[in-house]
Amino acid sequence: MALRNILTVGEPALNKLCRPYTEFGPRLHELLDDMRETLIQADGVGLAAPQVGVLRRAVLVIETNHAEDEEDLFLELINPEIIASEGEQTGEEGCLSLPGECGIVTRPMVVTVRAQDRNGNPFEYTGEGLTARCFCHELDHLDGVLYPERAERMLTQEEMMEYADEIGEEA
Ligand SMILES: [Zn+2]
Repeated sequence: MALRNILTVGEPALNKLCRPYTEFGPRLHELLDDMRETLIQADGVGLAAPQVGVLRRAVLVIETNHAEDEEDLFLELINPEIIASEGEQTGEEGCLSLPGECGIVTRPMVVTVRAQDRNGNPFEYTGEGLTARCFCHELDHLDGVLYPERAERMLTQEEMMEYADEIGEEA
């Protein structure tokens, strides 16, 4: 496994439509392993392939809704699509590609995705709260959309400082 460089806003790769995977071989597996290491190192909760310069439809989301004695579950979503959503949540959202920024974004409270795993097997998964937010945020990346486009507003530097203690997670 190797760390990959996370691209930041201004890099053209972040605004591109990503292509689906048709082959589920070693190249994809290596990418997913690298993304996992990169995400852990960056202390985030989600990462999309275009953020490391790969214009393909793959994302990694950490499921954080679990009992304290359970380990984080890494969800690898290949060719994901949202098939159902319900409810609403409005809150702060950040992105590893926009370091030091934060916006207020409204997302569904519960989101079900259909995707393939690293071997091409289809599955469905329902996420709530932060996980649902993360699904929406990461899938947007695959269409070249960054969260400021969805944000009601971005936080000011002063507000950022106030929230600094609360914001420990970025997608
Ligand atoms: Zn992001």
